[in-house]
Amino acid sequence: MKQMNTIKTTLLAIVFVFAHTIASAQTKLPNVIILATGGTIAGAGASSTGSAYTSGQVKIDTMINSVPNIRKLANLKGEQLSNVGSQDMSVKIWLDLAKRINQLLATPDVDGIVITHGTDTQEETAYFLNLVVKSDKPVVLTGSMRPSTALSADGPLNLYNAVAVAANPASKGYGVMVVMNDEIHSAHDVKKMISTPVHTFQSPQEGLLGTVIFGQTSLFHKPNGVHTTQSEFSVDGVTALPRVDIVYACADGSADIIDFLVSAGSKGIVIAGVGDGNMNTAMLAAVKNATKKGVKVVRATRVPVGAVLIEGEVNDKEYGTISSDDLNPQKARVLLMLALLKERSREDLQKVFIKY
Ligand code: GLU
Repeated sequence: MKQMNTIKTTLLAIVFVFAHTIASAQTKLPNVIILATGGTIAGAGASSTGSAYTSGQVKIDTMINSVPNIRKLANLKGEQLSNVGSQDMSVKIWLDLAKRINQLLATPDVDGIVITHGTDTQEETAYFLNLVVKSDKPVVLTGSMRPSTALSADGPLNLYNAVAVAANPASKGYGVMVVMNDEIHSAHDVKKMISTPVHTFQSPQEGLLGTVIFGQTSLFHKPNGVHTTQSEFSVDGVTALPRVDIVYACADGSADIIDFLVSAGSKGIVIAGVGDGNMNTAMLAAVKNATKKGVKVVRATRVPVGAVLIEGEVNDKEYGTISSDDLNPQKARVLLMLALLKERSREDLQKVFIKY
């Protein structure tokens, strides 16, 4: 009997040491939180080969559990912040997301964040977070072009790769990143370039930050520009952003849209201009009228790639306008909304656009 008890005690001790070893091995993994917002990555359709589907149907825990070996990369926890197609992304969700990220990254228990997000407005959310996240720990957005129910769905591998980048200490200090289709992009540079194929995200002018192949991360260069811990923008105490609208210029475009926005209370207007941020004579006259009334007008370009020159064909001093530098209209809108949280002159705003 005594011998039996000794055997039992020894076995218990072995089990305890074994369990303890496994637990310490697990705690050595980085801690990554996945914040889910919806999008096609969480989308579902009736057919695996049909194009019809609805965004934001699958919950984050189901998504994590459907990716083989993802829990070997990091200790994962999912939080469902919203479940929308990103055409319904809003300033409210941006503010909630940024505040939650700052709260999580301020604790030593969290090493990185992944955000699942529709691709339609992912570049806007990424750029917004790049300006207001106050940490150099990795923050990675990902999504998919095919819904979870599709043949060759791209979401699971994108999520696996996003977690690998967020869990990698070498990814610190790169600002907010977008991981899709084996590529790592900077929030500042990334653009949705093609409406439906899986290589939708590109950084056509500045190039990739790196690649991630089945979790193996290679980072080539640091992003240009000021971001995260170096950015002057903050969401602390912010509950709304000033209204900023985008007007798309074209041949014989209507100028009264600009007049309407001024009367509707827009604090800022971004012109998606033709060429180097140009617009027709009637629109220019409406812009001059808007800037005289204190509305801030930024000239961006509807051309997919390239910067808008200060004092190019438009005399910015005369019209009271600001060049978006290398930001496309949708990202220029994000920066203008944040910049207009405080009173600024045209000259000060131009400096902001050059800096960020
Ligand atoms: N409208 C969808 C969204 O942005 C489609 C894009 C996607 O997620 O791929 O949520």
